[in-house]
Amino acid sequence: MPTSREVFDMANKIKPQPGIMNIALYQGGASHVEGATNVLKLSSNENPLGPSDAAKDAFSRAVHSLHRYPNTDHASLRAAIGEVWSVDPDRVICGVGSDEIIHFLCQAYVGKKDEVIFTEHGFAMYRISTLAAGGTPVEVKENERVTDVDAILAACTAKTKLVFIANPNNPTGTMIGQSELARLAEGLPAQAILVLDGAYAEYVAGYDAGLKLIEGRDNVVMTRTFSKIYGLGGLRVGWGYGPQAIIDVLNRIRGPFNMSSGALTAAEAAVRDVAYTAKCRDDNARWREWLAKGLAEIGVPSDTSTANFVLARFGSEDEANACDDHLKSQGILVRRVAGYKLPNCLRITVGDESACRRVVHAVAQFKGLRT
Ligand SMILES: *Cc1c(COP(=O)(O)O)cnc(C)c1O
Repeated sequence: MPTSREVFDMANKIKPQPGIMNIALYQGGASHVEGATNVLKLSSNENPLGPSDAAKDAFSRAVHSLHRYPNTDHASLRAAIGEVWSVDPDRVICGVGSDEIIHFLCQAYVGKKDEVIFTEHGFAMYRISTLAAGGTPVEVKENERVTDVDAILAACTAKTKLVFIANPNNPTGTMIGQSELARLAEGLPAQAILVLDGAYAEYVAGYDAGLKLIEGRDNVVMTRTFSKIYGLGGLRVGWGYGPQAIIDVLNRIRGPFNMSSGALTAAEAAVRDVAYTAKCRDDNARWREWLAKGLAEIGVPSDTSTANFVLARFGSEDEANACDDHLKSQGILVRRVAGYKLPNCLRITVGDESACRRVVHAVAQFKGLRT
C-alpha cells in the first residue's frame, strides 16, 4: 500500500527538475548551545579577529546610500583585486560568496548527463551545484586525505565538464603543489575546466592560488572568497578569475545586481588592507601550530594543515562524537565531518590564543588528563 504522501506525490504534476530532490540540505556549522553562555564557535572557519577596521568603516559609510542601486559591473572592487593580486580586472567576476561562482560554473557548463569530478572529502557545494544543474557528481578517492591527481585523471571521461579541487582542501587542510596542479590541468580532456577553489589560499604564505597556471592555459579557473581570512562571511562576497572566454560566459548568467553596495565597498576596503591580512595570516599560522602540537601531545594527531583549521583525528567515530559532546558541554562548537566521509575526525577552526587554549584544555579533560 502506498502511503498517503506517496499517493499525493504520484498525483501531483508539479515536479522540480531531475536531480534537485537528490540534494541533501546543507548543514551549516552549529552556532549556539542550549543553556551555555560564553560559547566559542569554531565550526565554520571564521576569522576570530573579524574584518579589518577599514572594512567596517566602509560598511558603515554605505548606510548613507542604501536607497541607490549598487553598480552592476563591480569595477571598483575588481580594480582593487587586480592591484592587490596582480590580475587583470577584466577577467575578475564577483559573486555572492564563492558559492555563487561555483553555481555559475555548473549552470553554464554542466547539462544533463554531464559529469563533474570532485574528491571524496571535497566541499559540499560541488555536489549541490552539480545536482542543481542536472549533472552527475563523480566522487574520486583521495590518498590519505590528500588530493590524488592520478585518481582524478583516471576518472575523466568524454562527459567530464568540470573538476573541482579546493587547495588547501576543506575539511582536510592539506594541499598539493604547483607541479601536481600543472599535471592535473595538462591531463584533463579538452572539454573540461579545472576549478581551483582558493577559499584558504591567503593562509598559505607565498602561494599564488594557481594564478601562474591560469595565465598559461585556457582551461583553469580559480574561485576566492571574502568569508575566511577577510572575516566577511556575513556579507557574502567571493570572486572568480580565469580566461576571458570563460569569465564572459559566467557574466551572462550573473544577475546584474547580485552584489549589494555595502558588500562591495567593505570587500574593497578589506582587500586593500594588506597589512591586516598579513597579520591574520601570521596569527593563524602561529596558533595553528600551537593547537596542532597541543592536541598531538594529548594523543589527538592531525595532518599538517595549511588552512585556518585543524582536522583532529580520533581512534573511532564513537570517540570523536564523545569528544564533540564534551566540547559542547564546555560551550565549544566544532564541526563533525562524518558527512565528508571522515567520521572519526572533528574539524576545529583555529581561534585566537584563548580559544586555542580552551580547546586543548577541554580535549585534555575529555581524555581524562585534566580536571
Ligand atoms: C568556506 C569555503 C568557501 C567559501 O564559500 P563562500 O560562499 O565564499 O562563503 C568556498 N570553498 C570552500 C572549500 C570553503 O571551505
